[in-house]
Amino acid sequence: MKVVVLGSGSYSGTPKPLCTCENCSRARINPALRRTRFSLYIGDGILVDPSPDLHYHLERLNKRIEKVFITHAHFDHIAGFPELQVFKEIDVYSHRQAVEMARHLSAIFLGGAAPENRDWRYHELEFGKWYKIEGMRVYHFRTVHQPIENSGGFVFEINGRRIAITGDTGPEILQDGETLKLIEGADLLIAEMTHRESIPRVHLGVNDAIKLAELTGASYTIFAHISHSNYTHEVLEKKVRERGIRGEVARDFTWVEV
Ligand SMILES: [Zn+2]
Ligand SMILES: [Zn+2]
Ligand SMILES: [Zn+2]
Repeated sequence: MKVVVLGSGSYSGTPKPLCTCENCSRARINPALRRTRFSLYIGDGILVDPSPDLHYHLERLNKRIEKVFITHAHFDHIAGFPELQVFKEIDVYSHRQAVEMARHLSAIFLGGAAPENRDWRYHELEFGKWYKIEGMRVYHFRTVHQPIENSGGFVFEINGRRIAITGDTGPEILQDGETLKLIEGADLLIAEMTHRESIPRVHLGVNDAIKLAELTGASYTIFAHISHSNYTHEVLEKKVRERGIRGEVARDFTWVEV
């Protein structure tokens, strides 16, 4: 099963307009260093977080999307939702706040929660429960990510493989025994690594993101949702390598076989 990090960046992307930091300056010259907003594809047909860059992602991915999971209703994770209008049939899954936002975006931009001639279905998930969705199992766990009230990550069990996605989370996840247990031994962990240093109740820094990979003993970890103000890609890779983590720092369109 192929997992593709479509977008490896955080809310402002890299380069951020007008920013003169090292990452933004380099990314203007070298397209390989650009970071679009976070989005993930799990083969076959699963999209996690329709980011504002979804059109760019979909035109390059060129695959059908059937199921859409949304970690939370921040714009960098949901604003591309109307771009899914190219698909006739989709199922959308998240907690109530994100599902309502998806319906709302569709209604504003496409004229209805299910645009004309399309069969779009919305499914509200509760945090802290396993759901059976066709052949797979999905768990939506809550994260602390202020100022938004509801935010979460997902664990997918597909074909005997377990894939965990933190979504946006503060470092409190490192104290959340229930969630750590859920992620423990995952075949693939997608961990956010937004900033150089953690911001309590908001985002993970480099050290805490690596600590999460260590604590959960995931077989492979991809670090993503990286801010322009974080270290350079090369320095991040070195930090991950020096800690002996099996994994890598995402670029846009980094993919792994799980
Ligand atoms: Zn975000
Ligand atoms: Zn910058
Ligand atoms: Zn967020």
